[in-house]
Amino acid sequence: MCYNHTAYIKFLGTAGTRFVVSKQIRASGGIWLFLNGIHVHLDPGPGALVKSVQSNLNPQDLSAIILSHRHLDHSNDANIMIEAMTNGGTNRKGTLFCPQDALDNDPIIFEYIQDYVGNIEILREGTRYRIGETAPLLLEFDIPVRNIHGNVQAYGMRFFPSERTKSTIGYIGDTRFFEGLINDYQGVKLLIVNAVIENQMPGVDHLCVEDVIRLIKGVSPKLAILTHFGLSMINAQPEVMAEKIAQSTGIDTVASVDGMVVGIGERFAVSR
Ligand SMILES: [Zn+2]
Repeated sequence: MCYNHTAYIKFLGTAGTRFVVSKQIRASGGIWLFLNGIHVHLDPGPGALVKSVQSNLNPQDLSAIILSHRHLDHSNDANIMIEAMTNGGTNRKGTLFCPQDALDNDPIIFEYIQDYVGNIEILREGTRYRIGETAPLLLEFDIPVRNIHGNVQAYGMRFFPSERTKSTIGYIGDTRFFEGLINDYQGVKLLIVNAVIENQMPGVDHLCVEDVIRLIKGVSPKLAILTHFGLSMINAQPEVMAEKIAQSTGIDTVASVDGMVVGIGERFAVSR
């Protein structure tokens, strides 16, 4: 285990889509971020709680849980993660960030669990959010644009760690490719991309390898990390796809594996 970084991102799971998740071909616990001294869980899919605890990460340390959208592979463990964050609801704290449609008809967070969190903030395009009160224990992120992902509200985001690290981190959640993504994620140094399918499929709002190449070329981060692999990506081998993407973009590209840690500093330190 390597948490000797002052800031890091840990991939608790790298599975995408119902098929990879339901067979647990890859784990599906989402992403744990520790930035500016603040712990955040992003997209708690099935296994988020188990994978966190097994990784010696304490949900009670969380200040926020972010749901990019309501699909199960991103939100299944949201209720239990909130319960764990708040010590079984005895310590009302933390912020839940989610799209409005996660709470509307057929809410994915039970009402009694909604009462456990300190507050709930709705994700909206063009909005900047803060987690924590005052610097240095303060983490800001924004939603540059709404994604296009079926009939649900889905968002990617940019995290802005402290000046010192100068490492804006972009997370492009589930979406179909559109030109605007490139503009909206300009300046991001580390780009996490949900590279779900190998080849484009009609009517499927996910990024394929060709889309990922256009995106990475256009945004031009220092490092790109692929995650959230569907079955066709698993079969094509994410490492092979990452190499192909690196070759055609000239940008370092890594295929994430379950448990991978990326240290965030002047440079990025990937331990697979
Ligand atoms: Zn989805």
